[in-house]
Amino acid sequence: DDDTFHFILKDLLSPARYSLDRVAGYAAALEAMAAGTHDVYLVDYRLPGHSGLDLVREASARGYAAPMLVLTGVGDREVDLEAMKAGAADYLDKGRIDEVTLERAIRHAIERKRAADSLRQLKKAVDTLQIGLTITDVAGRIVYTNPAEAALHGFTVEEMLRSEGRALSPREDWQPPSVEQVREFRRWKRERTRQRKDGTVFPVQLLSDVVMDEGGRPLAIVTLCEDITERKQAEAALRESEERYALAVRGTNDGIWDWDLASDRVYYSPRWKAILGFEDPEVGDAPAEWLGRIHPDDIGRVRAKLADHREGRIPLFEDEHRIRHKDGVYRWVLSRGFAVRDASGRAHRMAGAQTDVTDRRAYDSLTGLPNRALFVERVGYAASRARRRSEHRFALLFIDLDGFKAVNDTLGHPAGDQVLIGVARRLEACVRPGDVVARLGGDEYAVLLERIDQPDGATEVASRILVELRPPFSVGGRDVTISASIGIAVSLTGREAVEDLVRDADTAMYRAKAAGKDRYEVFDEDLRLRLQARTDLETALLGAVERGEFRVVFQPIVRLATGRLAGFEALLRWQRGDRLAAPDEFLAMVEETGLILPIGSVVLREACRQARRWQDLTGPDLVLPVGVNLSDKQFRDPALPTRIEAILEETGLLAAGLRLEVSEAAIIESAGAGTQGLSALRARGLQVHIDDFGSGYSSLRYLHAFPVDGLKIDRSVVARLDSGSEPLVRAILEAARGIRLPVTAEGVETDAQWSRMRGLQCELAQGFRFSAPVDAEAAAGLISAGAWHRRGRVVGSGG
Ligand code: C2E
Ligand code: CA
Ligand code: CA
Repeated sequence: DDDTFHFILKDLLSPARYSLDRVAGYAAALEAMAAGTHDVYLVDYRLPGHSGLDLVREASARGYAAPMLVLTGVGDREVDLEAMKAGAADYLDKGRIDEVTLERAIRHAIERKRAADSLRQLKKAVDTLQIGLTITDVAGRIVYTNPAEAALHGFTVEEMLRSEGRALSPREDWQPPSVEQVREFRRWKRERTRQRKDGTVFPVQLLSDVVMDEGGRPLAIVTLCEDITERKQAEAALRESEERYALAVRGTNDGIWDWDLASDRVYYSPRWKAILGFEDPEVGDAPAEWLGRIHPDDIGRVRAKLADHREGRIPLFEDEHRIRHKDGVYRWVLSRGFAVRDASGRAHRMAGAQTDVTDRRAYDSLTGLPNRALFVERVGYAASRARRRSEHRFALLFIDLDGFKAVNDTLGHPAGDQVLIGVARRLEACVRPGDVVARLGGDEYAVLLERIDQPDGATEVASRILVELRPPFSVGGRDVTISASIGIAVSLTGREAVEDLVRDADTAMYRAKAAGKDRYEVFDEDLRLRLQARTDLETALLGAVERGEFRVVFQPIVRLATGRLAGFEALLRWQRGDRLAAPDEFLAMVEETGLILPIGSVVLREACRQARRWQDLTGPDLVLPVGVNLSDKQFRDPALPTRIEAILEETGLLAAGLRLEVSEAAIIESAGAGTQGLSALRARGLQVHIDDFGSGYSSLRYLHAFPVDGLKIDRSVVARLDSGSEPLVRAILEAARGIRLPVTAEGVETDAQWSRMRGLQCELAQGFRFSAPVDAEAAAGLISAGAWHRRGRVVGSGG
């Protein structure tokens, strides 16, 4: 309210920095302060009707924020203090006021206001902080705590301020900060438990720091306190799930591996170790515990695949390989794994599982060698490699033991097994790493020589095998000697089909057997050509059946005592172009292909047809039976009796007009079954004769037991009449006479043989001495010419 003082103030304040507004009176002042648009208020102590202190009090009470400076008279000391109490920021003596003091008072008032504001904000922030915060002095008394900290412990802030810091911790968990921590004012972090007012405890994480004064002396310790109950629960849950995972790992049949690439350590699960026969503590955590046990032939591939997957070139690590068991024997395992990558795609960890697949690989359980399937698979690999790199030659060796059956039969199967295992080990010793020794089954082995550097590389290995097998095997205190026949097929071009090579090696092996055993044979071009000829013959035969190129010729059989024609033997011929081919040229193939059944039927039908014709020529008083040769296979055919019935019916031939010629072996083998099926026909006169008797081991003593009607002494026996077979012929004839079996001598070529057989009272004979086989027309001609009435050579009319 003082005009003069207003002008003085205006004069003292630099117009560049301050502007001054004046309000007159209490009410106007409060109004201006409510607007809050000024930085500072200068309040005169003396106001009309009011004290300036009233105004300051009122403004403070209303919460007006701008600082107020009270202007008082000189020496009014009590007023000054009262002004400060009322909420003034400062007071100024009107009498001593000058430019500098006014300016400084205003500036300080504003700065203090700002500092107070920011402190208030800070306090507010700390108070509302969700983390507990406590400040303790160096004596451990709590000098500040925020509401969060109090709430955490179940206290009020006031209760907290009255207690000691240690009261918040369970007694056994209290740990005062170390001298070092305080002196070196280092932050320290720890996990502790705290105790609530009600005595319950909870886990916390504490972070402390030391507050220094300006002189660097510790003033207080600030501690942040965080309730970590939830985190602990999560951790516990995680641990539990990890334990569950660990249990699962222990339970599964797969072995787990987990490779930390940074530290190059691998965790192997107990099962992983058990697969290899180890107890948990026996295996460390080095990668070598795994890689060092992998078979030398597989390790390169495994390493390459691991690297490929690690570098992201393949999406999954997966490999089947051999790994050495504690017992020294390799097992097959399937190992798969994934890399765990960081944001940049770099792998820092690889983890996976390993399964024992030895059984699935179907290794031969006796010898532990690969089986046939795996062997063929390996040959396939070798072939594909050879196709890519033409200088790579590989070879197959098929090895068949000679005389192994005898070992089994005489010493028993366990001894046989020992020999098979011993052979496997010796074979393995004969090859280089990378080569494959397999057991194909029984006493058959095979070797794949992965790389043949010299042309004779394969035969060298084969000779080594023959030598290695020579020393006897000691089995149950006995020495067993064994040898082998080896067939070799070499991949020359790398283009051969695997099946062809396998077959070639097999063929060569059979040739080695046929050539006298204990040797090797290389499959060569010659053999290939012969095989080709066989294939051609087979094709030609099939065509021949279709085109009906088979013929039947007939060889007369004579009664030696009278010289009369007694019948014919039907013999098969093949009209091959303009040439008549004899059975030795094609019969084996006919048997092998199964064509014997259709061809046999042709012969049977044709023979019966002709025999029926003969019957017409001779009349009912004389029967000239036709002998038809049946192979063992034909004789075993269960449909044979019905087929014969049908043909007899069809041709009108009597059963007595047909004679079957079968081998002794077929008779024995069928153990009566074949002849039983024929018994109805035999009752009606059909005859069964044993063919080629005396050519092999002939069961003279059991002849009586055979359901047969006659026998034919083989050509080879007749041919040796002069060189020692006579006693045998005599014995046969005697035995046959005893049971009244008629005997036919085959292949009688000379007069000497003829008279000899006649002298021995052999009943019937056939052979070039009488007649070679002739065609059906000629046979019929012989009959109608009455040739059977004549002695000696059987000739046609006019002969
Ligand atoms: P096999 O049953 O011993 O037939 C007699 C063979 O001896 C016939 O040969 C015949 O031509 C021949 N031969 C006859 N007399 C003489 C002789 O004085 N000296 C010599 N060295 N040989 C003589 P072929 O016709 O070549 O028949 C050979 C074999 O083929 C027969 O031996 C028989 O086992 C078989 N065979 C012939 N035809 C058939 C047939 O239709 N079916 C079946 N399954 N096998 C047949
Ligand atoms: Ca015959
Ligand atoms: Ca014969």
